[in-house]
Formats: sequence, C-alpha cells, structure tokens
Amino acid sequence: MRYLITGGAGFIGSHLTEHLLGLGHEVVALDNLSTGTLDNLAGVSGHAGFRFVRGSVTDPASVESCMAGIDAVFHLAAAVGVFTILDKTMDSLRTNLHGTENLLDAALRHDVPILVASTSEIYGKNTASGLTEDADRIIGSPLKNRWSYAEAKALDETFAHLYAVEHGLRTVIVRPFNTVGPRQTGRYGMVIPRFVTQALAGEPLTVFGDGQQTRCFCHVHDVVPALVALLSDESAYGKVFNLGSTEQTTISQLAERVITKTGSASSIAKVPYEEAYGEGYEDMQRRIPDCTRAYEQIGFSPTRTLDDIIAAVVADRRS
Ligand code: UDP
Repeated sequence: MRYLITGGAGFIGSHLTEHLLGLGHEVVALDNLSTGTLDNLAGVSGHAGFRFVRGSVTDPASVESCMAGIDAVFHLAAAVGVFTILDKTMDSLRTNLHGTENLLDAALRHDVPILVASTSEIYGKNTASGLTEDADRIIGSPLKNRWSYAEAKALDETFAHLYAVEHGLRTVIVRPFNTVGPRQTGRYGMVIPRFVTQALAGEPLTVFGDGQQTRCFCHVHDVVPALVALLSDESAYGKVFNLGSTEQTTISQLAERVITKTGSASSIAKVPYEEAYGEGYEDMQRRIPDCTRAYEQIGFSPTRTLDDIIAAVVADRRS
C-alpha cells in the first residue's frame, strides 16, 4: 500500500511513518514543519519507500501533488497544543477546518479511504467517567479561544460524516485521548514532556491550577497500530472511535511521579491558570475514555502503563 500521512513530520505522524515503512508499505509525508520537524523523520530519510513533501494541508495544490498512486490517507496534520491554539487562534482554526476539508475533497476525488484525526477535546467539560463516542459535548463560549480547537475538530468530524453519508467516502474518525511518548515536545503545552524536561533540568514542575484535574495518557506505540488497523478495516468505515488508556492520574500525582522516576531535586510550583494561559481559561477537570468500541472493532487494548510512558519520555529526553 502507498499511504499519504499529513502531519507526517509530527509526533504521531512520524511514529506512524516508521510503523508503516516497517510493515513494507510506502509513505508520502506531507508537512509544513510548523510544529513537526525533520528530526522526527531522521530514521526514515533515505528509505526507498519514503517521500517527504513540504507543504500545507490548507493549500489544495500541495495536497493534490501528493495524491498520485495513494491507496489511503491518514489525515493527522493540525495546529496542536494549547499554547499554539491560544497564540495563533485564527491561523489554527483555518488550518484545522480548511485543511480537513481539502483532504476530504482529495480523498473523494481519488476515491481512497481516509482516517481523520479528531480529539478527545471535543467532549469539553463533560466529566463523565468513561466517555463513550455518543457522549454529549459540553463546550464553553465560542469567544473563549481554547474551545476553538474542539469546535474545529468537531466540525471536521461532521464534514467527514457528511462526506461518508452523502458521497460514500470511506472515512474513519478517531478521537485520541492524550497520546504521549518519545519525540513529543513540551513547547506547545503538552504536560508530560514539559514535566520531564523541567525535572531533568532541576527546574520546578509547573502544575497549572490546583493539580486535581485528571487525564489518562496513552503511549503512541499503542495508538499507532490502532490507526492502521482501523483504516484497514472496511467495517470501521463511517464510524468514530475513542483511542486512549483508562489509567487515570491527577496532574499533581503526575508531577510527583516524574520527580520520583527521574530522581530529580525539582520542586512543584502551582501556577494559576490565568498566569499559564491568560484570563478566562477553562480546563477540563476529568477526561476518561470508554474504548469498548475500538476494543470490539480491532481488539484495541493499550499495554503500556503511565510508568512505561514516563520512562520512555525520560529516555528520549536524556538521549
Ligand atoms: N498542565 C500543567 N502544567 C504544564 C502543562 C500542562 O499542569 O506545564 C496541565 C494542563 O493545564 C492540563 C493537563 O496538564 O490540565 C494536560 O495538559 P495538556 O496540554 O498536556 O493536554 P490537554 O489539556 O489537551 O488534555
């Protein structure tokens, strides 16, 4: 198979690229290198089955230039990270809306299946324990910039759904819950690489808010094979799937664990949300997936624990 991966130089995209090449497939990676980097692809540059194209998903000509001979598309390219969304809200909204529309158009024109990466963020402030794919979305004001990411991704899902229903496009939508692992950078806000970097530097770990908010983190090596399995499974087309772990931690506990695992002398600094993200910021207090649907579809069952994840990120940062 020859796959197009948008966002192929990003954190998840680069792991997916390696995984597919390892299975003997060919990969074309389209990336504008806004948050992704060629360093992420160092292990595959020069591989006979790999081609990198620098370009934006917002540019239909760039997208079209990648489509020749493509059998299926993973659309992962997006403006990501809370800091990115807050710093460049309008650009991010455009990328996340128009980029997806362009990819859906291209997939339709070439009649190839497409996996669209959405996000667990679309559930917003719904704190139900075990969010199923049909759970309600509880989203704050459209004038609060944080929610623009969730809004764009939700509209992407609706677009994908309508392309499937109205045009018969073969689509799969996934909602990853806090995917982490080697190569993820903390520069755009993601908490685990930030804590690990701070701990290794002996700096205080910045816990935003009271630290009692919870998340479930899932190793990228558990997520990537699931993406491939879903896009390879015709009976998954037209559906949406949560992908995540159910091992919960509060952010305060996470900070303590990172300090213990690194043997760091760092302290923990509580930082008010306003200071971290600006005035009016709303966080999600709890976000736990129910992944029964993905389990029943492809046997999805993450095997890496939070300790495994922290160890992997620490090893990555140290190297
Ligand atoms: N967070 C934190 N310190 C940091 C970065 C993030 O306490 O230096 C918190 C953030 O406010 C959120 C949680 O960690 O409650 C997860 O943040 P991340 O941006 O990684 O993911 P998301 O908010 O999208 O779940």
